[in-house]
Amino acid sequence: MRLLIVEDEPKTGDYLKKGLTEHGYTVEVARTGADGLHLALESDFDLILLDVMLPGLNGWQVLAQLREKKETPVLFLTARDQVDDRVKGLELGADDYLVKPFAFSELLARVRALLKRGKPAGADALCVADLEIDPIRRRVTRAGQRMDLTAKEYALLLLFLRRQTEVLSRTFIAEQVWDMNFDSDTNVVDVAVRRLRAKVDDPFHRKLIHAVRGVGYVCEAR
Ligand code: CA
Repeated sequence: MRLLIVEDEPKTGDYLKKGLTEHGYTVEVARTGADGLHLALESDFDLILLDVMLPGLNGWQVLAQLREKKETPVLFLTARDQVDDRVKGLELGADDYLVKPFAFSELLARVRALLKRGKPAGADALCVADLEIDPIRRRVTRAGQRMDLTAKEYALLLLFLRRQTEVLSRTFIAEQVWDMNFDSDTNVVDVAVRRLRAKVDDPFHRKLIHAVRGVGYVCEAR
């Protein structure tokens, strides 16, 4: 089993590497988000232990970019224990969350549980009406017909399906899909949603993504 640790504090990184190596894992350590992302994309790991507060690319950004390409399980390691952060990490597709400081035995238990699970959480097919996303293959079909989406359109659709029946504000969508804070220019969201709907909704009678006036959008089978 190959693990990747992305951690900028050398002491913590070395300590985790030593402990996990002693338990039979093959471990690589990256000191920055950019290095970690590069390694994660280039090579196949069974699990990634990802620190949130990293210089340059932070853990959120690493995860968001990783999820555009891969579903490698991710365990977030962080000193930030606010509920919002936890929710954000899980929404972005983290599989578990461990708050520092933690006992090594607890980490080991989480690592084992995640590896045992085999496939990452969120790997199950998601569907609404006759539209389906297979997150492992990154394949989208509607009525059995394959949809060809860009990476952003896919990320947007995945968000809609994960949060279906919830009204999502433009700001929330912008943060989740573009990892940016749009104060005014949420037009970007409207444009992207329009393009997505042109592909997944326009050719079909039953519409799945609906505008909610003055708020944003909701995905549901009506
Ligand atoms: Ca850190």
